[in-house]
Amino acid sequence: MKHGAESLIMLIVILLITACSPTPALVKVEQQKGQLKVGFDIDDTILFTRDNFLKAPALSDDPDHLDYAWINTHDSLYSTLIKPVADLVWFYRAHGHDVFFITARPGINGDAVGRFLSSELDFPVELGKNLFFSPKQKDPATGKKYTTKHHLISELGLHLYFGDSDTDMIAASIAGVRAVRVVRDQRSVDAYSSNYFGDLKSDPEKRAPFGDVNYQTFLTRGVGPFGETIYPIYINTEDVNQSQE
Ligand SMILES: [Mg+2]
Repeated sequence: MKHGAESLIMLIVILLITACSPTPALVKVEQQKGQLKVGFDIDDTILFTRDNFLKAPALSDDPDHLDYAWINTHDSLYSTLIKPVADLVWFYRAHGHDVFFITARPGINGDAVGRFLSSELDFPVELGKNLFFSPKQKDPATGKKYTTKHHLISELGLHLYFGDSDTDMIAASIAGVRAVRVVRDQRSVDAYSSNYFGDLKSDPEKRAPFGDVNYQTFLTRGVGPFGETIYPIYINTEDVNQSQE
């Protein structure tokens, strides 16, 4: 009985000391090491996947309702690494920073995506460790789909997030993390322009006011409509120089 009371007092003392500690030890260690946690989107960011999506079986008339069980197992046939972004990934890792991948694809057969990224990038990309699936959700009131990536960006404690879509910029901003826009391959812009600077290919309207001229201005200034930095890997420098003259 006496031993039980001593244990209880000891437990209370430990709890009080823990509660009074101003900063968690884990955060201190990470800051001292100077390590970044850097997140990357997958489609049109680390992988050019247009052909995989164009070949994917549709599950309904909804253009977004694709067979992701099929898509996630066919990157090895139809998707290719985007080399300038892979160089960034390798650069961060070579300097001791941690890299994570977060995609809005549904996660069915997601381990196959990890195997493909591992073989292409030459380091382990594993589901639940540095690869996460975070599908969009639909607001039942408005029917509008919205990103959920900000939850993972926060939980993982990322410091930077690279993506091509408007929703990537929104997710990073909600999470309070610096957003960097990877410029989408023009072939993908032509194939599906929605969720990219509003919609570069639609007729001008309030929800999509930006056309090609505005787009080039964003690229040459290196800033996008969400205040994001732009990583201009697909700019033809001759075109840019001519547009500035
Ligand atoms: Mg993307």
